[in-house]
Amino acid sequence: ELANRMAERVADVVKELMKMGMMVTQNQSLDADTAELIIQEFGHKVVRVSDSDVEDVIAAIEDSEDDLVSRPPVITIMGHVDHGKTSLLDAIRDAKVVSGEAGGITQHIGAYQVTTDEGVTLSFLDTPGHAAFTSMRSRGAQVTDIVVLVVAADDSVMPQTVEAINHAKAAGVPMIVAINKIDRPAADPNKVRAELLQHEVIVEQMSGEVQDVEVSAITGQGLDELLEAIALQAEILELNANPKRSAQGAVIEAQLDVGRGPVATVLVQNGTLRQGDIFVVGEQFGKVRALINDKGDRVKEAGPSVPVEVLGLNGTPEAGDVLNVVETEAQAREIAEYREQVSKDKRAAAGAATTLEQLMAKAKEDENVAEMPILVKADVQGSTEAIVQAMEKIGNNEVRVRVLHSGVGAITETDVGLAEASGAPIMGFNVRANASARNTANQKGVEIRYYSVIYDLVDDVKAAASGLLSAEI
Ligand code: GDP
Repeated sequence: ELANRMAERVADVVKELMKMGMMVTQNQSLDADTAELIIQEFGHKVVRVSDSDVEDVIAAIEDSEDDLVSRPPVITIMGHVDHGKTSLLDAIRDAKVVSGEAGGITQHIGAYQVTTDEGVTLSFLDTPGHAAFTSMRSRGAQVTDIVVLVVAADDSVMPQTVEAINHAKAAGVPMIVAINKIDRPAADPNKVRAELLQHEVIVEQMSGEVQDVEVSAITGQGLDELLEAIALQAEILELNANPKRSAQGAVIEAQLDVGRGPVATVLVQNGTLRQGDIFVVGEQFGKVRALINDKGDRVKEAGPSVPVEVLGLNGTPEAGDVLNVVETEAQAREIAEYREQVSKDKRAAAGAATTLEQLMAKAKEDENVAEMPILVKADVQGSTEAIVQAMEKIGNNEVRVRVLHSGVGAITETDVGLAEASGAPIMGFNVRANASARNTANQKGVEIRYYSVIYDLVDDVKAAASGLLSAEI
């Protein structure tokens, strides 16, 4: 490829490399510095792909006012654990998916669309909680237009309720409050409203501007009102997109499927994604081989706010990665490879630091210290840090907890792979494992534990560490 771009013969390039003492074949990759030397040797000009080039390719398209059309809102449901996020997502889907539609059964692809009785289409992210929301934002993809904050009417505003409020506010995303479990005898919606007031969420019933709807995910009461409230909020937001341009989207979830290869669910944010399109997504690239919608049907194209499974990737991207359709495969490959190099460099820098730390720790360490490795995944950066700090404090001169990896977002197959390799359990805090991670964990016997209270997590690790301690004695 290098020869090609310089319009030189491959054999000449290989010969030149050999002169430099590098025995290579034409299919081998070169590092950037070697490539640069060769290019100079041949008297050509070096142009390194940089971030700005990448942005240039991607940002070259401008939407003209005339091309803008209204698009469905994208909704994330957030709230405290057990307040009914999953139940609500299921209830909305069950109520609004027309059974006459092909199959009538929705596929879980990470997001789904429903149409209200008034004919308004809404796109829901199917991963409740803060994980999706924050991991997306941390990767630069702001997907959510509206947050539905679920608060159980028989409970109170809880820590994660407050966290959700803060996330929505930080992202500047409007909120709608769904006061759930209204069917419960102990339901006291006004108490919830009053408590929200203390967190500067003033709902309409309290003469504020935040819409509040009383619902029951179990009886279905209030669901239509909730959808109407969302539709109204969407109208106020005047959400537009240009379906005529080439697509840009965000990865909702992605996995390596045994039969189908890497599969990513992409929520198209602008433009229209079509079969045959060439794209770059995070550090991966590809050509759309097939698009599958949330009903499991193959579709030819997906417009703004439509979630689709994309087949035809060269590798598995990560949730929150941005997908851009580009002109040529060379361009897609170049951008993907550039990004991969950048993150490799970053990892190498980070890796070097840990090795150094480890070396110093080792130097101090008694030979007999047993290490208990764990992996930590949490929904937000703050929780991850808090847990890792707590973990580092556990142990004595016989046992030590070592956090092999910590991160924000759902537990993935990569995490399971790492855990398996190191014989470590995975501790999930307010996050879940995606389907493929669960399967792999089952197969490989990797333990995944879920927590919603940091103290519980810490206590369990302490208990396990002391178990290890007694086992050692
Ligand atoms: P999540 O952790 O926020 O996703 O909460 P879930 O959807 O898993 O719900 C937690 C529990 O509350 C489950 O046992 C649900 O059946 C129950 N639940 C959820 N919504 C309602 C509701 O509207 N009414 C009643 N009575 N129970 C509900």
